[in-house]
Amino acid sequence: MGRIVVKFGGSNLKRAEDIANLISAVRAYDRPLVIVVSALYGVTDMLKEVLTGVVRDKELIFRLKSTLLEEHKQILFSYVNHAIIRQETLFEIRGRLDELEKFLFGIHLLQEAPEAAEDRVLSYGERLSSLLLTSILNYKAIECLEALPEEIGLFTDGIHGNATVNYKKSGDRLVQNLRPDTTYIVPGFYGIGDNGKVTLLGRGGSDYSAAAIGYCIGAEAVDVWKDVEGFMSADPKVIDGANAIGQLSYMEAAELSYFGAGILHPRTFEPLSEAGIPVRLYNITTFSGSLEPVSIVSGLQRQAIGIVKSVTWTDDVGILRIKGSGVGIKPGIMAEIAVRLNGCRINIKSIITAQTAINVLLSRKDTSIAADVLLEGGIGIAVEMERIDDISLVAVVGDGILHRPGIAARVFGAVSRQHINIRIICFGASDVAAYFIIPRGDCIDAVKAIHQEFFHENN
Ligand code: ASP
Ligand code: MG
Repeated sequence: MGRIVVKFGGSNLKRAEDIANLISAVRAYDRPLVIVVSALYGVTDMLKEVLTGVVRDKELIFRLKSTLLEEHKQILFSYVNHAIIRQETLFEIRGRLDELEKFLFGIHLLQEAPEAAEDRVLSYGERLSSLLLTSILNYKAIECLEALPEEIGLFTDGIHGNATVNYKKSGDRLVQNLRPDTTYIVPGFYGIGDNGKVTLLGRGGSDYSAAAIGYCIGAEAVDVWKDVEGFMSADPKVIDGANAIGQLSYMEAAELSYFGAGILHPRTFEPLSEAGIPVRLYNITTFSGSLEPVSIVSGLQRQAIGIVKSVTWTDDVGILRIKGSGVGIKPGIMAEIAVRLNGCRINIKSIITAQTAINVLLSRKDTSIAADVLLEGGIGIAVEMERIDDISLVAVVGDGILHRPGIAARVFGAVSRQHINIRIICFGASDVAAYFIIPRGDCIDAVKAIHQEFFHENN
């Protein structure tokens, strides 16, 4: 029997009642699993806030400790009805909270948070939820062991905040340490650098943890449980009649995640596509005992009849437009931009050039620093820089988008009928996705128009 890595996210760990669904889902598998968990809902954000505030106010540490203890205790007491197990688990939870306190206290004394300490502090959300779940599942007769990344050998490249898993180094260790006949609970979101320090895998990184472990142990599948309907033709909170997408290719799912669909961490597919391991998505809120996934992401490329499978958007985008005659064709300018931004760890989402302008797409939070960095000392022959922040990026995704004639015309026809001004278009950079930039205020209307064009029942 192949092994399955099962990931439960923060949305499955919101209220005490949610744990009952999680237990039923684990039981339904009826075999040993590797279970990867996120922090309880909202805990990582809470830790992040305290990290900022604790530099000035050490009282925050004690408040945080008591809130976290209370939240975990409430869930523990709802499921474990045995005095000694309750006491033992609370003792361990308090132990982890004491460790957390030490790191936060150190940050308070230093008056700043070194990145290694920041990563360590943020990992406590997962360290607490994995401990809690291990105790609850064992009490419910689902025998399992907690397995911390530092114990089982989930190694990374050591980059703080956004590390990459080192598969070569982790592979053998994980195979040795995760025996096929045992169920493990692994806290997601972090791995260990060569120096033994905790390194985070980026926000939402537990999906990536699950994928990396699945790859290393040669899992049959990586199953991700959510509280929504997997991948959809658009965000159902905004679009009435959005449909679940049953089958997606790795590329489609990666592009959708990259462009803001928010369902899975975009890096989840890197290891899995190479090994052909499917990702199956389940909705815990509609779980009725059968393990029927809502969406399956695999190597199968199945074109939708209308080609477009989903339309998504993100507001987390800003543009630096670097103007100057000939910037687009002068050698070296692009390299200079990339090197300088890389020097301050700013990720370039995309670059679109013309003869007289280079447009650098960035995360919105980065545009101001990036502008400062590039303006310092000037860039080659560039003469002017414009910062454009009040925009959104809308992406359409589907296998065949590049090759089927007429898709672009339908997308842009639908948008232009709403009198929306498209500022930049990028068609062709990926085999399965196209995107464009519009004023932020027009974003939802554009998404609605495209969804109507491709998914209205008369189409
Ligand atoms: N708890 C982490 C976060 O909120 C990781 C995760 O949930 O995947 O980003
Ligand atoms: Mg998540």
